[in-house]
Amino acid sequence: MQNLKCQKCGTHFITENISGVAVKTCVKCKLVFIDGVEVTRLREGHNAYSAGQTISRHAYETTSATHMISEKCPRCEVKLRDEEYIKNSNIHFKLCDKCLSIMFDAGELDKLKHYQISPATKIYDEFEELFPVMKKVLAG
Ligand SMILES: [Zn+2]
Ligand SMILES: [Zn+2]
Repeated sequence: MQNLKCQKCGTHFITENISGVAVKTCVKCKLVFIDGVEVTRLREGHNAYSAGQTISRHAYETTSATHMISEKCPRCEVKLRDEEYIKNSNIHFKLCDKCLSIMFDAGELDKLKHYQISPATKIYDEFEELFPVMKKVLAG
């Protein structure tokens, strides 16, 4: 886990604990990587709360194969999927369908920072519970 390298520039990550979630940031290009284990924990907490049950690691809602990009997951080396984080915002993030990790490029984080969130804002379906963490990532 400690030896993960950024898939964009090959540099190592530093890990910070943000609201109890281990968030990795590339020291060079500032890409943010959140491990699938952390993401799953957040999603399970959310679902357990609302449905009284836990979910195991399950795949993200699959979309068209056209979203697959050539960048690979630093953990499991499979191709990543590019998705829009907030509908119609043109702010994108990357998902690994295998280990369920997620990644944000620095440029996308910058866009997210300046994006006006309204009550009607539709965040990528399965990641509402991640949003408070992302807000703190942006604030830091
Ligand atoms: Zn990097
Ligand atoms: Zn992966």
